[in-house]
Amino acid sequence: MKFAIQSRNDKLSNELMAQAKKYLTEFGLTFDEEEPEIVLSIGGDGTLLHAFHKYIHRLEDTSFVGIHTGHLGFYADWKPSEIEKLVIAIARKEFEVADYPLLEVTINYQHYQKSTKYLALNESTVKSPEVTFVMDVELNGEHFERFRGDGLCISTPSGSTAYNKALGGAIIHPAIPALQLTEMASINNRVFRTVGSPLVLPKHHSLMLVPVNGPDFMLTIDHLQLLHKDVKSIEYRVAEEKVRFARFRPFPFWKRVSDSFVASEVKDE
Ligand code: NAP
Repeated sequence: MKFAIQSRNDKLSNELMAQAKKYLTEFGLTFDEEEPEIVLSIGGDGTLLHAFHKYIHRLEDTSFVGIHTGHLGFYADWKPSEIEKLVIAIARKEFEVADYPLLEVTINYQHYQKSTKYLALNESTVKSPEVTFVMDVELNGEHFERFRGDGLCISTPSGSTAYNKALGGAIIHPAIPALQLTEMASINNRVFRTVGSPLVLPKHHSLMLVPVNGPDFMLTIDHLQLLHKDVKSIEYRVAEEKVRFARFRPFPFWKRVSDSFVASEVKDE
């Protein structure tokens, strides 16, 4: 099996990277940064986002596994002390694959025929660089509301524990293929109205944002920030593609939620 390693680049993550590379090579696996079948991400959830975007062109052939060198992560759920156990499990190829839904983002332009497509693992946010952000929100081709405020966040189920949670969105189990729309400081008064609650859309539903004030927007795709000019509309849907995580043991999602947000991790370590 061919493997690659993505490190957060701090001292501990780099030491673990060297150790994992040595062990896996001794077990007969091949280090291959171009076409890995398994990618070890050593750092945090942020490191796994970087690994995901590095190998986004081969999602069908690559599985990811994360080791956390800081706090427990949602994508990085192995402890540094478990590295030997993990390496042995990888070498024995004893893993199941858990696939999680992704978000497809399509940007259409006013004066340019071609659209741009992205895939997000956590979320995409959209804000105006200067003026108040004003967008018409359409659901399945029907006008839903005119949003005025700081911006909007559209997240995946596995991204629901990230920025979406800070915006008051619900935590969604990644077995549910859905996307969630959350507001960033909407203007609500006697003149302007928005629904005010996060919306959860199932697969095959589509969400479109049509600029009223624009046409330049600051768009994020996970950790990536991009300024898009001349925007005509932005479409969001649950992607056909999925991300694969290598699972070597059960670690139920709700247990991760509890360990990350409710229970003290110090007690568990
Ligand atoms: P970052 O500052 O390193 O990441 C922000 C925090 O989000 C880190 O603590 C990271 O965990 C955590 N995180 C990432 N994905 C997560 C997930 N699926 N569930 C729970 N926590 C998660 O920034 P970055 O490396 O550029 O990462 C970009 C991400 O930051 C975005 O995708 C967005 O979700 C998040 N973000 C959050 C806020 C907010 O909560 N107000 C604001 C902006 C961006 P690790 O420490 O394990 O890496």
